[in-house]
Amino acid sequence: MSQRLKVKQILSDDKSHYEATVKGWVRSFRNNQFIALNDGSTNNNLQIVIDAENTDAALLKRITTGAAISATGQIIPSMGKGQRVELKAATLEILGDCDPEKFPLQLKNKPSLEYLREIAHLRFRTNTFGAIFRIRHSLAFAVHKFFNEQGFVYLHTPIVTASDAEGAGEMFRVTTLDMQNPPRTEAGDIDYKEDFFGRSTNLTVSGQLEGELGAMALGEIYTFGPTFRAENSNTARHLAEFWMIEPEMAFYALEDNMDLAEAFIKSLISYVLEHNREDLDFLANRLAEEEKQKPQQERSEMGLIEKLEFVLHNEFVRITYTEAISILKDSKPNKNKKFQYLIEGWGADLQSEHERYLVEKHFKKPVILTDYPKEIKSFYMKLNDDNKTVRAMDILFPGIGEIVGGSQREEDYEKLVQRMQEMHVPVEELSWYLDTRRFGTAPHSGFGLGFERMMLFVTGMTNIRDVIPFPRTPKNAEF
Ligand code: ATP
Ligand code: MG
Repeated sequence: MSQRLKVKQILSDDKSHYEATVKGWVRSFRNNQFIALNDGSTNNNLQIVIDAENTDAALLKRITTGAAISATGQIIPSMGKGQRVELKAATLEILGDCDPEKFPLQLKNKPSLEYLREIAHLRFRTNTFGAIFRIRHSLAFAVHKFFNEQGFVYLHTPIVTASDAEGAGEMFRVTTLDMQNPPRTEAGDIDYKEDFFGRSTNLTVSGQLEGELGAMALGEIYTFGPTFRAENSNTARHLAEFWMIEPEMAFYALEDNMDLAEAFIKSLISYVLEHNREDLDFLANRLAEEEKQKPQQERSEMGLIEKLEFVLHNEFVRITYTEAISILKDSKPNKNKKFQYLIEGWGADLQSEHERYLVEKHFKKPVILTDYPKEIKSFYMKLNDDNKTVRAMDILFPGIGEIVGGSQREEDYEKLVQRMQEMHVPVEELSWYLDTRRFGTAPHSGFGLGFERMMLFVTGMTNIRDVIPFPRTPKNAEF
């Protein structure tokens, strides 16, 4: 038997007149003669030509959309348009039948994204999700490539943790206790001393605190793993299980942190533009079609590729929270009471409508907002000399809102403990974290990039459930 080749390779080669074996799934079968075969290596199908007259009728009947097949034959120049080469089948084998009456993905009726979410186990078989998940792979690879080239150490922080260290969100409890009949303390509470870890544990909401420990010895580290938030926010931008990239760097001030984040994001965009052009073009066309359905004034000014190029070649705007508040206060939607949450003045927490106004209407560029009021940010962020603001930075993206949250960390032991007390963070429980401030503390910074938010931006998809293979959201953990 000849060598099995991937469709992508056959279509990208200039060669013809050689024998090859291909394996994949039938996308369509026309005129009892032409099979469009997809093997997942690319959205482009390989045309397989069958000699119907010399093929068993029973076999022909089994060539249905969705069936898995193997075919061997000559790769020859194609007479038809749409492809340069095709495979003239000498032998064809059905590896797995697919009942056309039952298979939910027939080409005739274009399924909606909502419907495809219900059959997420099969949606990989569509062009849209083929493109999305090949890009997701590339983007993950580009993350490691970037940090590897910068000399960062990939640190695996724990998934199961014992502290709500960050206070970042509600957590999922991890337990092996018998929930029908849990052990009780004398006071009648559930006794987690009896639990698997001898204490109450949960799934991590962020690897940052452990990441800081690594950075304070290895210099520059990053984590890239799943994080979990039991927040009941059923939005198109929140998942209960999502992947986050969290670099943490010793001796970095806030400005260095911003520079790194901007360079990092740009490198990811540049990588996919270079390596996933075919899939990006496919998604760009898809998006353009979708845009056409919208009323004129709601259509976006740029196509997907243009938007990626634009972000790649323009500097992010950097402004302080205080400057942002004054822009928002004087903005039309604020004056006309169009914002759901009106900006009354300094101190207000920014909602996604405000973030999007700044990015999409005012600056029309990615924006890095810095120096937020300490009250609306986490305890570990470095206090500025004004005693009111902290060295936080959020990166806001068009169509997405917050894509990165980060800060310079408070390295001063006394100040940090004071902030913890003010914010009711248990100092005792975090003594291991405070040790870095006791033993050779140093300025350091870091940030978290939500991988799926980045995926949304790169693919132009609008619902976060469509850029992760099996989304976990409130009331949904299927597959
Ligand atoms: P948001 O205000 O959008 O809820 P956050 O302030 O809770 O975000 P951080 O705790 O700073 O976010 O987390 C860092 C990054 O992780 C965010 O910038 C975002 O990209 C991503 N992120 C946060 N929560 C989620 C979620 N539930 N689903 C997917 N990505 C998330
Ligand atoms: Mg949140």
